[in-house]
Amino acid sequence: MKITFLGTGTSQGIPVIGSTHPVCLSDNPKDKRLRVSVLIEWDNYAYVIDCGPDFRQQMLTANCNKIDGILFTHEHADHTAGLDDIRPFNFRQGDMPIYAHKRVVKALQQRFAYVFETKNKYPGAPGVDIHEIENTPFELGDTTVVPINLMHGNLQVFGFRVNDFAYLTDMKTIAEAEMEKLKHLKVLVINALREESHHSHLNLEEALAFIDKVKPEKAYLTHISHLLGFHDEVEQKLPKHVFLAYDNLQITL
Ligand SMILES: [Zn+2]
Ligand SMILES: [Zn+2]
Repeated sequence: MKITFLGTGTSQGIPVIGSTHPVCLSDNPKDKRLRVSVLIEWDNYAYVIDCGPDFRQQMLTANCNKIDGILFTHEHADHTAGLDDIRPFNFRQGDMPIYAHKRVVKALQQRFAYVFETKNKYPGAPGVDIHEIENTPFELGDTTVVPINLMHGNLQVFGFRVNDFAYLTDMKTIAEAEMEKLKHLKVLVINALREESHHSHLNLEEALAFIDKVKPEKAYLTHISHLLGFHDEVEQKLPKHVFLAYDNLQITL
């Protein structure tokens, strides 16, 4: 299985428009972060988690010309705003399978009403094939995906486990019962916004404490704000099995 980090930034991305913060002005490519998303590939399958406003650019950079579906963690714009750009896939493959909680499907239907239009749909508008998911395992191709219920402040969010890989973003808290699903991971991806605390995201200290509890072989931090600091400086402070993810990083497991 190959994982490509398509974006590792928080909702505004890095650099933030108009910001003169030193991290936003950094020349290091690792300090440039698009909105969070990952591409997961195994055998001939390719799935993307989330479809934020940078989706088009991410698909071009990753040279991705076929995807089998999009899994949504939740409805926030930094995870969904790129949905219109599935059209090139639609023209080649037909309707795009999407996997999301029914609340998220409803939010997409409101924001992208033209995508879900059944009468007089504009020719060339994006098309989706809806798969509502609940907190129970489901199949993608020949593999089982285990959703993990997380809380993002007051909002329910899904994390996903595929084999020994788990991707949890926009988490603040998790019920003890859900921790069962995170045993024996080779790789855990978890959000770490900044050092200061936040009402709906883990900060660095909380993310490291969570990693200590889950005990994956390796952990990668994502959904990063410019306020966390320079990539190279932050990474030096981390335990040796914990890394900051960066855009275009690929890992295989
Ligand atoms: Zn987010
Ligand atoms: Zn969010």
